[in-house]
Amino acid sequence: MSLPCAHELARQLADGTVTSAALTERYLKAIERTEPALHSFVTVTGQRAMEAARASDARRAAGSLLSPLDGVPIAVKDNMITEGVATTCSSKILGNFVPPYNGTVIQKLQDAGLVILGKTNLDEFAMGSSSENSAFGVTRNPWDTNRVPGGSSAGSASCVAAGQAPWSLGSDTGGSIRQPASFCGIVGLKPTYGRVSRYGLVAFASSLDQIGPMTLDVRDAALLLETISGHDPKDSTSAKLPVPRYSEELEKGSLRGKKVARPREFFEIDGIEPGVKAVLDNTIEKLASLGAEIVDVSMPHTKYSISCYYLVATAEASSNLARYDGAQYGHRTPGTKNIVEMYSKSRAEGFGDEVKRRIMIGTYALSAGYYDAYYLKALKVRTLIKRDYDEALAKADLIVAPTSPFVAFPFGSRSADPLSMYLCDIFTLSLNLAGYCGLSMPAGFGEHGLPVGIQLLAGAFQETKLLQGAWELEQTLGVTGTRTAPAAAV
Ligand code: GLN
Repeated sequence: MSLPCAHELARQLADGTVTSAALTERYLKAIERTEPALHSFVTVTGQRAMEAARASDARRAAGSLLSPLDGVPIAVKDNMITEGVATTCSSKILGNFVPPYNGTVIQKLQDAGLVILGKTNLDEFAMGSSSENSAFGVTRNPWDTNRVPGGSSAGSASCVAAGQAPWSLGSDTGGSIRQPASFCGIVGLKPTYGRVSRYGLVAFASSLDQIGPMTLDVRDAALLLETISGHDPKDSTSAKLPVPRYSEELEKGSLRGKKVARPREFFEIDGIEPGVKAVLDNTIEKLASLGAEIVDVSMPHTKYSISCYYLVATAEASSNLARYDGAQYGHRTPGTKNIVEMYSKSRAEGFGDEVKRRIMIGTYALSAGYYDAYYLKALKVRTLIKRDYDEALAKADLIVAPTSPFVAFPFGSRSADPLSMYLCDIFTLSLNLAGYCGLSMPAGFGEHGLPVGIQLLAGAFQETKLLQGAWELEQTLGVTGTRTAPAAAV
């Protein structure tokens, strides 16, 4: 049995075959049944969700719906500021922080009548690829609970794959939406930088962070993207551009005659699992069968993505995380003798190892004697990577690439070695450095019968073209909705 997509639920609500209260209760029960095995959530907001669902049903009865999605449940990553609900970033340092306001994206969900089921688990401050950096315990992959769901949007991926929520929001700084989407067999879209407001997204690396949809199919990704996008006076980096109705454009494009770039550097890397490679080859064949012309390109500077990202992102993180000093927000070590001791003990206790590692690398890269050699150099490499994208996209409409070199891996197999963990991001980081849009979509099954996602990438604000291509490919691949994760609630 396949899990119902959000657009199907919206139709059922419109038909009157289900109420939002019944739907919300069904998901809350699914969460109750499967959470002990999966731990997708940091906080489940059951009572608030039921109240929101009943209010939606009342609006429907009164004919005053807020949007066609009014009453549909959703889960959100716990790094999005939510008024009156703990927002922890899966960090001890924010453990008891309850924000007094809503981030823009949360406000947009509520303005559209969506029902928030809870806040999902992540690697602390979105730093990681496996959920093993969460201060509140790991999230398990519903396809195999001995394996990681990917990260950092771990809970947002697992809850959708497990039928604990029909869809969710994640955030992507270097791959945190796309990699877990790939590991859990769902769609995950990173919008163009500036498409979605970052106001109220707890900052990790401000020049890279974007919020985006994690869904069961491409249509849902389009629907959720159009709900959260748009200019926001509270985020000066959000773009002043109109928001297309992406969901109404899906069938209007065609891959016939379009050019799809295949960058050599993404395909000729050692260490891609054979099962993943087979899925990639099949995807390229399907693209060609749809009439797309596959063009070979080279993006030579993308091989520096990992070094470049881990300087830019850590530099920004070291500055963004300076605000957690024990004086504001969550955790403060009691009984310290002076303010310096309070700062240092609160930070030593409040942050986990990976966050501390990144604060130290970033502080070092920004320090007076090393700024030019590290941070400034990384910025120059970032420009070269962006130029690679511009050149590839001058020759093609879309780029096809793997999402991850491997399927979901067992807990503990990479966590002891940060560099091996950073390798998870090898195919996803460059897109954030360029600032462009891309998605990972289910394309088949690889080693151990586990899901494999592939990426389609496009230029700035080319989400319509991206979603049109993905939608057509989804129909032809015939993978979406064919198998359900063994640990899912059905
Ligand atoms: N895995 C990458 C990291 O650890 C990406 C994280 C993200 O996109 N938030 O930084």
